[in-house]
Amino acid sequence: MEDRLRLVPVGVMDGDDVLWCDDLYRFYRSGDEETLALRGVSLRVARGEVVAVVGPSGSGKSTLLACLAGLDEPDGGAVTLGGERISHRPEAERARIRRRRLGVLLQSGNLLTHLTVRANIHLVQAGEGGRQGERLRAEELLEWVGLRERAGALPRELSGGELARAGLAVALSNDPDVLLADEPTGELDGRTEQVVLDLIRARARDGRGVLLVTHSPAVTAIADRVIVLADGRIAA
Ligand code: ADP
Ligand code: MG
Repeated sequence: MEDRLRLVPVGVMDGDDVLWCDDLYRFYRSGDEETLALRGVSLRVARGEVVAVVGPSGSGKSTLLACLAGLDEPDGGAVTLGGERISHRPEAERARIRRRRLGVLLQSGNLLTHLTVRANIHLVQAGEGGRQGERLRAEELLEWVGLRERAGALPRELSGGELARAGLAVALSNDPDVLLADEPTGELDGRTEQVVLDLIRARARDGRGVLLVTHSPAVTAIADRVIVLADGRIAA
């Protein structure tokens, strides 16, 4: 075990790779029980690419997503995002890299319930440092996801499909290099799912990288590559 957990040197990134991880290990210990959630996972996502991660429950998908997002620290290996290493850094620096480079769309929804859709977008943009012209972009984002008329609504006033599109707008409001999403269309009907997938696909076409954890055949159908996780390893 010992030598496998040593840090691997961070190699030179391919120019086109916007997300990169090498030999990720993550284990959880409770008493004498040890769960190896990730056992040497390496992957790359290029600009313009949509990658889907599938695998049975417990195979390590959420752990992988959390490590890639810098929300969890891997026990071994490294994660590089838009050219910056995010793993093995103090939390404040991970947060800074996340704010600049990453959009995360979680299953639980990433909207604050007491704020309108527009205010949720402004909040993320303010955290990023409030670049000039940002307010304008919020309106463009709302238009892009088809929610301009609903921008003043609270999350609880939105339908499932509107909520998914609002979550996507919030995840993209810092104009990230990489979008990571856990079951982004988990609770949507087929037609609404396709609307969200078209938006995600268009995002990749703009030169961003997208990695989605999913169970949905409609999602794997729009992916450029599908990675199968089994027991903490890439099986295919
Ligand atoms: P998936 O998302 O594919 O269902 P997870 O990444 O959630 O898989 O979990 C992978 C393995 O790690 C599972 O065996 C799970 O029980 C374990 N695990 C995940 N998070 C924790 C935790 N915080 N503490 C202990 N074990 C965990
Ligand atoms: Mg999971």
